Amino acid sequence: EHLADRAMILEGSWTLDAITTDGHLCLPLTAGGHPVGVLGIPDSAGPFGEGRKRVLAMAAALLAISLRNAQLFHDVRENSLRDGLTSCFNRTHALEVIDMELRRARRSQMPVSLIMFDIDHFKDVNDRCGHLCGDAVLAAVGVKMREVLRGSDLKCRYGGEEFLVLLPETPLEGAKRVADTLRRELAEMPITWKGEALTITASFGVSVAMPAEIDSQALIGRADAALYRAKDQGRNCVRLSVETAVA
Ligand code: GH3
Ligand code: MG
Ligand code: MG
Repeated sequence: EHLADRAMILEGSWTLDAITTDGHLCLPLTAGGHPVGVLGIPDSAGPFGEGRKRVLAMAAALLAISLRNAQLFHDVRENSLRDGLTSCFNRTHALEVIDMELRRARRSQMPVSLIMFDIDHFKDVNDRCGHLCGDAVLAAVGVKMREVLRGSDLKCRYGGEEFLVLLPETPLEGAKRVADTLRRELAEMPITWKGEALTITASFGVSVAMPAEIDSQALIGRADAALYRAKDQGRNCVRLSVETAVA
């Protein structure tokens, strides 16, 4: 009734842009010019008289605003967690998630592994083709990570051209296989910039959490040390953390 009153007051300004189909009244939900959804109401409770339609139009308007606000909140939150270039999580958020996953792994006694990789000679890409090309390469790496890795793997841009992948419920050997696949896929990825084709490679370090370990910095440190060895031993390769490597 309240809404009906409001609808009466606003009668001059609301428009009912609805269609009836298959026993449903369908109302488009728009807020600030943005479509946010469609509200479908079955006519099982009786026919749609003018008064009822007016109330539904008001309800749809309020619902659309709420949905739009929820969408905006979601977008703002996503932007604060993700890196704009690669769509990977940013470092701050990734560290929080790694801490959380380490605690979860300690409770469930499941293994959790970490891959750290760094693009090889990336400075040369910038120097030869320019920073915009370097940015395009980073974006392509982000796309490839989403293509190759599971949705449950945490993908993070840790620094300029350095990335982390946390693999829950994955032992070291499994993470090594994932790193090898990603390494191969990146090396085979064709990148075209201003008509010219270029390729990149990356070096990988892999570590696994020690039993009951909750220190994310130590886990990252071991992957970093392994990555350092990969760089040292020729690049475009995967090295396992020595502390946890299986013979
Ligand atoms: P290495 O194989 O030893 O890793 O050599 P590298 O050249 O990749 O390593 P280095 O650390 O010397 O260079 C990293 C470069 O990455 C330098 C920096 O300008 C570039 N870089 C970092 N962030 C960005 C970015 O967002 N966009 C672009 N285009 N370049 C970036
Ligand atoms: Mg590099
Ligand atoms: Mg680097």
